[in-house]
Amino acid sequence: MKMLIEGKLIDKNEKIAVENPFNNEIIDYVPSGDAEDVKKAISAAAKATKSMKEMSSRKLSRIMYDIHQELKEKHQEISKLISRETGKPIRDSMVEMDRSLQTLLMAAEESKRIYGETIPMDAAIAGRTAFGFTIKIPLGVVAAISPFNYPVNLAIHKIAPALAAKNTVVFKPSTKAPLAALKMAEIMGRHLPDGAVNAITGPGGVLGDQLVTSDQVNKVSFTGSVATGLSIARKAGMKKLTLELGGNDPLIVLDDADIDAAVMGAVGGSYLNAGQVCIGVKRLIVQESVADEFIEQLVSRTQKVKTGDPLDPETDMGPLIDEKAALNVEQSVNDAIQKGAQLLCGGKREGAFFQPTVLDQVEVDMELVQRETFGPVSPVIRVENLDEAIKAANSTPYGLQAGVFTQNIANAKKVVREIEAGSVLINKQPTFRTDNMPFGGFKMSGMGKEGVKYAVEDMTRTKMVVIG
Ligand code: NAP
Repeated sequence: MKMLIEGKLIDKNEKIAVENPFNNEIIDYVPSGDAEDVKKAISAAAKATKSMKEMSSRKLSRIMYDIHQELKEKHQEISKLISRETGKPIRDSMVEMDRSLQTLLMAAEESKRIYGETIPMDAAIAGRTAFGFTIKIPLGVVAAISPFNYPVNLAIHKIAPALAAKNTVVFKPSTKAPLAALKMAEIMGRHLPDGAVNAITGPGGVLGDQLVTSDQVNKVSFTGSVATGLSIARKAGMKKLTLELGGNDPLIVLDDADIDAAVMGAVGGSYLNAGQVCIGVKRLIVQESVADEFIEQLVSRTQKVKTGDPLDPETDMGPLIDEKAALNVEQSVNDAIQKGAQLLCGGKREGAFFQPTVLDQVEVDMELVQRETFGPVSPVIRVENLDEAIKAANSTPYGLQAGVFTQNIANAKKVVREIEAGSVLINKQPTFRTDNMPFGGFKMSGMGKEGVKYAVEDMTRTKMVVIG
């Protein structure tokens, strides 16, 4: 596939191969863009701000509906591409496409609902005779940088709200999985004014630095790791920033929980996309009195997770994004075992595959649960009571989402009050997101919120108008 700059598909002599992690076949190549390409893409986006600003919301919304229609026609093709480049089971890639289409429609609707506010000027001494109101105006050029794990939906969560607020976009997909997102950008480009959406590919450090430090870029919307997010925050200067970063989500299971439901939640949350989900269940904090029962069911359900070919509709779990990612998970699991954790099932790696794994007797200070383990692992931390559970849940630098299974409303309320996370889910695993809810973490998990309405709001600035 090619880059998209000012409405033209651009290739380069130097290319990067995109591999299928299931069988290592090369699926396609993308151009290895450089700083000069980034400059061109930013200039094209800056030039297109005028036509986007002048477009009526009605027309813009209609264009977004047209893009939705064309993407819907390519649903199967793009879902398959997601599975081939990421190793995600086809069932889950189809869900990702459903959600992406839904996100785009929500943004098309939101583009007609960008309201300012009337200010009661006469509430202040100086404003007695004045009328005042605000208008929401576009920021200008938005840099959208996305990770590999949900390559289309996480990209559309940035690009669609940016467009809805009449901005232009320079989009940089992950080098590990750029194809489906490039396809989407190419389709968008066909419907929008030239330069309204540009897509560039190449080494993240080079392209990212150029994007993040450019004076012509007004906002950076980034989803990815904490390390890259921190590097962006240090370099971005006076730009608006949305950072959706890593997670280490706890699932607390108390002694009054519906154990069956909790186990289902744990399995769904730990192994979805082979554990490569920012809101995956990364730590199971279980009250001692129900731990044995919970763990027995967890192991039994984990052993039923069917691994295999991502394109087989029967497959529950495919490989990780590459062998290096699987090696990282293996190293963290082995470290925990060496320090006293007990391996109950899984634990083996073969190439980029890592078996769904359950570990008991995990301690809160082990690397496996202090850092974000991006793989299919269920580490169980046993605790005596709710206070200990909350302390364990809050014991990492992350704060994306958290879940608790309990039938006791007082316990649920205490968890809501005391857990440091952007969302708290009661009787549900934290691996849950609807595309309209405000989504974004506390602590090192990021800053700002996505979710269409909130993202659109963040893609505007407020201008005050006073009539004296
Ligand atoms: P990553 O390594 O941080 O990469 C994310 C994106 O940043 C890629 O497009 C990458 O490009 C680019 N990049 C690399 N260096 C950069 C730099 N110096 N400046 C600007 N951009 C740069 O993350 P990943 O491994 O793809 O994704 C996994 C991480 O994302 C996990 O930590 C996960 O929790 C997090 N995540 C968070 C959310 C959320 O909503 N909170 C959702 C999904 C994933 P290259 O690919 O070319 O290096």
